[in-house]
Amino acid sequence: MITAKARAVYGPDKPFQAAEIKRRDLDSHDVLIEIKYAGICHSDIHTARGEWGPVNYPLVPGHEIAGIVTDVGAEVTKYKVGDRVGVGCMVDSCGECENCRKGEEQYCLNGMVPTYAGVDKYGEPTQGGYSTHIVVKEDFVVKIPDNIELDVAAPLLCAGITTYSPLKRWGTGPGKKVAIVGMGGLGHMAVQIAHAMGAEVTVLSQTLKKKEDGLKLGADHYYATSDPETFEKLAGTFDLILNTVSAKIDLNAYLSLLTLDGTLVNVGAPAEPLSLNVMSLIGQRRSFAGSLIGGIRETQEMLEFCAKHNVVPKIEVISADQIDEAYERVLASNVKYRFVIDTSTM
Ligand code: NAP
Ligand code: ZN
Repeated sequence: MITAKARAVYGPDKPFQAAEIKRRDLDSHDVLIEIKYAGICHSDIHTARGEWGPVNYPLVPGHEIAGIVTDVGAEVTKYKVGDRVGVGCMVDSCGECENCRKGEEQYCLNGMVPTYAGVDKYGEPTQGGYSTHIVVKEDFVVKIPDNIELDVAAPLLCAGITTYSPLKRWGTGPGKKVAIVGMGGLGHMAVQIAHAMGAEVTVLSQTLKKKEDGLKLGADHYYATSDPETFEKLAGTFDLILNTVSAKIDLNAYLSLLTLDGTLVNVGAPAEPLSLNVMSLIGQRRSFAGSLIGGIRETQEMLEFCAKHNVVPKIEVISADQIDEAYERVLASNVKYRFVIDTSTM
């Protein structure tokens, strides 16, 4: 067993505390990673606070992991000691079902194993990246391109792939008008990726406070959704809307901004249901869809894409003692634009 330092939460309304956790001894296809940086995703907050349902505490969140390989199992072929690697939201899947065979492990029909708040094939609870070390099967590890620093690489493992995958799937590219709802961790990645894919990008944010940043990141237009005129002015405009908002929004108002055959894809995952008036879809043959992270192959592809187009998140690096404070700032939409924990402070 390997002992790792970590930060764990012990209840839905409890603060983070220093903890020691055990990582399994390396199986033949496992790699041991010394975690250097771990991003804070809003999903960590939803989970740690029990908003998505009951979880087993203590819980170590974190599924935006970047670090260095420090040991490998006997039959590992993809990685060697010293490699710069990342781990995202899942650490295993059955590998045999139709979806796994297609490289869509996140949709594993037998249930993928999430990086934290899951149970691994050894029957042990999984614990995430707010820690110094993790042991992961090599197939669920990705290589970080040389020109991406580890601190900015971390958020790509969730915020990057979660926005890249639907943007690509729904044909983002030249001639397409794409709106990104919410300029948080996911949203500010989506703006950069959609811009790099060649689309005309609009940000729909609650206010104009982050307008300058949004335009610098590649947005062509930026509107405040608190201004009712925004919805009148932009009616019927977008081919694709990517909703990254962590709270309930008025879906029908956003659907009215789609063109004929336009699609609104929800990646934001608020605990409470959204209500949909089907007339919002019927009138202009519109679609409403959802998307969950991305497969391992696509995650590697996303990293190469970001390396090629110089797309990286804007981050605030924090120490392990600042996690609770960071959570409050994320909840107040006051993050520019991703918190990343420096795990040397564990
Ligand atoms: P975040 O950094 O907190 O960003 C969310 C943004 O939504 C905020 O910055 C804010 O943008 C906007 N927002 C927040 N509250 C709002 C409200 N009440 N009304 C309107 N807009 C509001 O969170 P994140 O880490 O990007 O995650 C966003 C959501 O995606 C979370 O629900 C998370 O669980 C989910 N998620 C899903 C997947 C997936 O695979 N589908 C993966 C990762 C995360 P403005 O200030 O610009 O308005
Ligand atoms: Zn996430």
